[in-house]
Amino acid sequence: AVEIQKVNKHFGPFHALKDVDLSIPPGRVTCLIGPSGSGKSTLLRCINFLEPYDSGEIRIDGRLMGYDAPGRKMGGRALREMRRSIGMVFQQFNLWPHMTARENVAEGLIRVRGMSRADAATRAAAALAKVGLADKMDNHPSRLSGGQQQRVAIARAIAMEPRLMLFDEPTSALDPELVGEVLSVMKTLASEGMTMVVVTHEMGFAAHVADRVAFMERGELVAADTPAAILHQPQDPRIQSFLRTYH
Ligand code: ATP
Ligand code: MG
Repeated sequence: AVEIQKVNKHFGPFHALKDVDLSIPPGRVTCLIGPSGSGKSTLLRCINFLEPYDSGEIRIDGRLMGYDAPGRKMGGRALREMRRSIGMVFQQFNLWPHMTARENVAEGLIRVRGMSRADAATRAAAALAKVGLADKMDNHPSRLSGGQQQRVAIARAIAMEPRLMLFDEPTSALDPELVGEVLSVMKTLASEGMTMVVVTHEMGFAAHVADRVAFMERGELVAADTPAAILHQPQDPRIQSFLRTYH
């Protein structure tokens, strides 16, 4: 589980996260929605400490993320160890162009996990099969569609066997006809009990796959509740007005 309590983040004078509270239950899908610039990516990046937060607490399975004590950042080794259990998938796929799909997935296993090349290749093949790319393992990214490249990025993350997966608009760089195949891989992961936090503009995915939907605006976490409560009967006028832009 991830427990976020009273988290604040500033960029210089700009207050990007304001006393954010959010509890992310294990084995569930939490979707983060809200207008552009509301702090969704910033919050996601604070969870794995790609962005240090200024105050408050983010606890992952009980352990404080990023700090040994309030105001004292943890060392690089401890941070890397905590990040081992967290996978992240971005809007941009960030694959290495000179490597095949399989090599892209294997690389982290070799470098970060210290696996042998042979073991890493076997694990990479299994992860690629899981995302439906068993027949594309030897393709370089330039020989893959956007949807396939994003599925390689997901395979690369799940090959590390994370306990938590963070997705930041994983389908928003894709042509519309390629969105479905990526969402379907994410649905499979969710049905297998992966804990997931997904920043998305795909309201259909949020409505049908999320267990909880959290709405952010101007750095505030306005509400977090069931998809029905947030998407169908929102009480807060800020959510109502945001959702109107989708109809
Ligand atoms: P989008 O839907 O457009 O991706 P978002 O909700 O993910 O938006 P963030 O990227 O979290 O929004 O940004 C929140 C606010 O913080 C924005 O106003 C942004 O300009 C600001 N911000 C984000 N990163 C930085 C940074 N590194 N330095 C300064 N300001 C930043
Ligand atoms: Mg963003």
